[in-house]
This record gives sequence, C-alpha cells and structure tokens, in this order.
Amino acid sequence: MLSYKRLLLCHGSRLALQNGAFSTSTKACKSYKLVVVGGGAGGCATAAKFSSKLGKGNVAVIEPADMHYYQPMWTLVGGGMKKLEDSGRPMSKVLPKKAEWIKQRVVTLDPHNNKVMTEDGSEINYEFLVVALGLQLNYNQIKGLPEAFETPGVGSNYSYLYVNKTLEALKNFKQGNALFTLPNTPIKCAGAPQKVMYISEQYFRKHGKRDKANIIYCTSLPVIFGIKKYADALWKVVKERDITVNLRHNLIEVKPDTREAVFQNLESPDELLTLPYEMLHVTPPMSAPDPLRQCAPLVNEAGYLNVNKNTLQHVTFPNVFGIGDCTNVPTSKTAAAVAGQFGVMRRNLSLAMAGGSPKHEYDGYTSCPLVTGYSSCILAEFDMDGNPLETFPINQAKERRTMFHLKKDMMPPMYWYGMLNGLWEGPKYMRKMMHLGMSK
Ligand SMILES: Cc1cc2nc3c(=O)[nH]c(=O)nc-3n(C[C@H](O)[C@H](O)[C@H](O)COP(=O)(O)OP(=O)(O)OC[C@H]3O[C@@H](n4cnc5c(N)ncnc54)[C@H](O)[C@@H]3O)c2cc1C
Repeated sequence: MLSYKRLLLCHGSRLALQNGAFSTSTKACKSYKLVVVGGGAGGCATAAKFSSKLGKGNVAVIEPADMHYYQPMWTLVGGGMKKLEDSGRPMSKVLPKKAEWIKQRVVTLDPHNNKVMTEDGSEINYEFLVVALGLQLNYNQIKGLPEAFETPGVGSNYSYLYVNKTLEALKNFKQGNALFTLPNTPIKCAGAPQKVMYISEQYFRKHGKRDKANIIYCTSLPVIFGIKKYADALWKVVKERDITVNLRHNLIEVKPDTREAVFQNLESPDELLTLPYEMLHVTPPMSAPDPLRQCAPLVNEAGYLNVNKNTLQHVTFPNVFGIGDCTNVPTSKTAAAVAGQFGVMRRNLSLAMAGGSPKHEYDGYTSCPLVTGYSSCILAEFDMDGNPLETFPINQAKERRTMFHLKKDMMPPMYWYGMLNGLWEGPKYMRKMMHLGMSK
C-alpha cells in the first residue's frame, strides 16, 4: 500500500537571477489523497464525488482553463440554435468547493514517483491519480490552418474559437460547394462532423439557397458511421437530401487565397482531390494531449492512457485510473461514454482506496445524438462491440422530433446539474426499466 504523506516543501527550491542578484524562491510541493488531472466532463464529476466522500483538503483538480464548456452544445451553436455563451460556465462555478483547484497546466506526469509537475514548476504528489485530460485538437497538422480561420467561409464546431464562424459561413453563403470533413485520427463525437452538414443543408433550404449549394462530405473513414444500424439510416438521409459522400478522403491543406481544399485519397495516397469551397467545416485531427503522450509508462503505442477497458484501472500502475477521451478504451469518445465510465470508475477507485481490487466492468456504453436538422435527431446508442444498446423501446434509427428535444433541451441540464456533480452515470437503469428488465 502506498503511504500518504503530506509534505509542505520539497526539492523545488530554486536559485534565480533577478536584476543581477540571486534570490531564492521555493516552490510548494503539495500532496493529496487524490489528484484529478483535467477538469472537463470526467474530471469534474470525479472531483465532485470524491471530494464529498474524502472531505476538504484531500482532493485536488489540476485544470488551466477559466471556462468549462459543454461541448456537445457547439453543434447547435454552429447552426444558430443556441448561443456560444449558453455553452460555457466559469470553471470556478463548476468545480466542487471541497476540492482544491490548482489552476495550472500539467506538463509532466511521473507515475513511478506518484507525482505530476505543473507549468509553474510545482510538484503535486498523489496517492491516487485520475487522468481525465480529454483530447488535443491539432488544427496545425493541416497545411494552411489555423490561419485560414481568419478568412471567410471556414469554420469548425470543435473549438469555441471557430464555432461562430460556422454560422457566419451559413449566413454569408451565396453559391458553390459546402464541404464537411472528418480526419484520419480518432475524434470526439464521431457524429458531429456530419450533424453540422445536415443542419447546414436545412439552413440552406430554409433560406432559399439549397439549389445554390453543392453539399459534399469528405471522410477519412470507409463508412458513413461505424454502427451498421445507424449507417443504413444515414445513407438514406444523404440520398434523400442529395448530399455527395467521398469516403476515404482526408483533408490535408486549405488554400484560403483561392478558396480551395485539398484532400488525399487514402486508398491511393498519391492521388489528391482539390475542391473549391464557398463554405468549409473542418473537423481537426486529434490526439491525447502532449504531456500524456510523452509519458511512455502511462500510454499505449498510439499515445492514449493505457487502462483496462473494463475496469478503467491503469494496466501497470494500480493507483492510476482513467476516464474519458484520453483513454485507450475502444468505444466512441463522447460525454455519454464518460457518464457510463464514471459509475464503474468511481466504484473501482473506491475499492482500490480501501485496499481491494476493482471488480466493476464498463460495457462500452456510448451515445451519439445524430442531429439531422432543426427538429430531428437519430439517437444512436451502442456498446464496445458495436451492438445497439438503446434506452427507449422504439426504433432509435428513425429521425424523431422527441430525440431532438432530448438533445437540445434535456441533455444540457442533465450535464450541468447531474453529470458535473457526479450524479449521472448513464441511462443503464432507465434502459432496463423501459425494456422491462430484458435489456443489458
Ligand atoms: C462539436 C462537439 C460535439 C459533441 N457532441 C457530443 C454529443 O452530442 N454527445 C456526447 O456525449 N458527446 C459529445 N461531444 C464529446 C464530448 O464533449 C467529450 O467526449 C467529453 O467532453 C469528454 O470528456 P473528457 O472529460 O474526457 O474531456 P474534456 O471534457 O474535453 O475535458 C478535458 C479537460 O482537460 C483539460 N486539460 C487539457 N490539457 C491539460 C493539461 N495539460 N493539464 C491540465 N488540464 C488539461 C482541458 O482544459 C479540459 O478541461 C461533442 C464534442 C464536440 C467538440
């Protein structure tokens, strides 16, 4: 069992040259029972539950951002259905009062010594660590980005910096190609790159511009969606709405001067396709954040936190657990998956803290509300093996207004009041009830 030491000062003492004279500055070195790195969906829920259980002074969250965003709302912001301000709250208001907020960026993780280092040079020691760092957006891996966001017609719902540019591109659209992309890396919410397209298509229709728009979806994937039941429904939607789909096409360059986008054909990598655009929606390549990727003992070969996909405990360090997008769990990366993982991780971490072994297992539950317009949605829900795992006893592959309102009006309060307080662990019990106990 690891010993839990509370050190006040440690080897962070430094000598610094200030105005020609040496002065000593000592970095405080703090210790906690539990350190959570990242205060997003998973980190906030974890900190809320464990700070309430362990009491003040025992839990720290390391998170540099001033604002906490409910990212799923950006799909609606890009389509003009919600305002960007509605999607964010100050971090100070969402992080639990009983946890200490260390407003810093983690730069190094050192699992052999049970500590992490932050940008200001502090060392934070832990007895247990939860890694909840999310994904890093790598716009700069596409030539011409992020500079092209300064020019008309280019937007991205994946960042609060560029989401309003999607709406601006829709409003200013005159005629030509409207291009939507999906990159050649794992991403969060794999449905979002096409939700924006269906919303845009209806926007053009509502504003009398549909006959002026040639809508093209360029995806690196060989399929329109990973789960056949929903893929079949989506092929129907693209056919009905006259949308062109280019499979295995990866955006590699944006040329804002000529308003062209260059795609590589992944089936035949020497073959490039250059398309002019009037509007371009970019989904960027993503990866685990650099400080995590650079910590070889913690990650798999692709750079994601290497946890047991069922227990969410690290495969080498039993005092490290992971939650959310930054892990190697082979399920679609969504806030819904975070909720499903949270219940399991919470129980297993509690067992580990009590000296036991994890025994609860995550089934890979994830969900993607595929918004197909201003009042319709297909609610995809499935498990780690790609089997549908639907909450409602109806065919969820059908476009429905009820599912749209669930996404637009009910999910945000569930996130702010349920999930971030560690009170929402996914719809498992609701699903069982709805299916009279006959569902998993
Ligand atoms: C456009 C869009 C649409 C989406 N739609 C849906 C949807 O409909 N349904 C759904 O369920 N999900 C959706 N998602 C996905 C969902 O938002 C994420 O899967 C979820 O937020 C993941 O939670 P997380 O805790 O793993 O990461 P995040 O919530 O991203 O949190 C990661 C945190 O780590 C912090 N961090 C990063 N680096 C460091 C560092 N070095 N040191 C300290 N802290 C750091 C970040 O600041 C951030 O606060 C969507 C996302 C987007 C962008």
